[in-house]
Amino acid sequence: MIDIKSMTEEEITQALRDLGEPTFRGKQVFTWLHRGVSSFDEMTNLSKPLREKLRERYVIHVPKAARRQVSALDGTVKYLWELHDGNCIESVLMRYHHGNTVCISSQVGCRMGCAFCASTVGGKVRDLTPSELLDQVIFTQADSGLPISNIVLMGIGEPMDNLDNVLRFLELVNHPDGLHIGMRHISLSTCGVVPGIDRLADLELQLTLSVSLHAPDSETRSTIMPVNRAYDVEELFRACRRYFERTGRRISFEYAMIDGVNDHDWQADRIAEQVRGMPAHVNLIPLNDVRESSLRPSRRLSAFQKRLEHHGLTATVRRSLGGDIDASCGQLRRKAMEEREGGDSI
Ligand code: SAH
Repeated sequence: MIDIKSMTEEEITQALRDLGEPTFRGKQVFTWLHRGVSSFDEMTNLSKPLREKLRERYVIHVPKAARRQVSALDGTVKYLWELHDGNCIESVLMRYHHGNTVCISSQVGCRMGCAFCASTVGGKVRDLTPSELLDQVIFTQADSGLPISNIVLMGIGEPMDNLDNVLRFLELVNHPDGLHIGMRHISLSTCGVVPGIDRLADLELQLTLSVSLHAPDSETRSTIMPVNRAYDVEELFRACRRYFERTGRRISFEYAMIDGVNDHDWQADRIAEQVRGMPAHVNLIPLNDVRESSLRPSRRLSAFQKRLEHHGLTATVRRSLGGDIDASCGQLRRKAMEEREGGDSI
């Protein structure tokens, strides 16, 4: 059975033409899907025989909200979605002044192996399909009743390790007959997969690229991020420069501050050297304690921030939302995995 919500409007239109339907049918079906219907019977402007034909050939998957945690502190909502095959993923709804933002997952688990990250502890189970990426936006909006204006691909998984599906998702979510979320309202975060950055640069999309830097020197970075052994810091910064030259977009560097590992002044100086001549924003993140790791949060956040600013860089400290609800990457999924009998992967 074909997953119809992963198809573009053009593909749906063609498929319906092949069934003898007029061209405008494609748009009707596409619009219904992006409104979050769970069956063809809800598509009331289609004839019964057509709905029947579609049901024989296509499937509409809909995720189930397996858990929902609302932060009493700031209204952040964390969702654990159960997918049609029983796997689970997380999305987080954050309420900012500039609009409601949903942080979505790109894979079930992750194979990048970053030492400080809970999402990668059990490895990668599988990639998410375009419709599973899209459903996180559709159903977070439907469930919360809040209009979503921004998307960040910063949940579980590495988007560049599932780039074909992520690119298709971007096309779907950006479509005027769907959710129509503009590229400038979308951020994609990568641990530094250089070929992926180059592929994205070639498309010249207006989205924001976030690079999880976490250390400006290869010696440190390789100890906490295995991806650095494939694409080291120098190669990564060259790719960032190419990205900026192609797209004209300022890159955002994520930097989780880890006690005694990446919080030395010389590392702030090194960041400034590496990004010279390129507009950059450094986002300092207080490290979230992950039980599985021995790394501890740094106490030098503001000193490090000042040092970066002294070099003329824009550096911010990320406001932490949802501190009371396991709202950082992979934590809720890990907890649910441990609680589930037999410890199946979810
Ligand atoms: N794989 C992509 C997308 C995940 S984004 C990437 O690496 O960018 C999630 C962000 O949270 C990344 O910047 C990641 O490095 C960061 N992160 C993971 N674990 C963290 C922790 N314990 N504390 C703070 N930030 C963390």
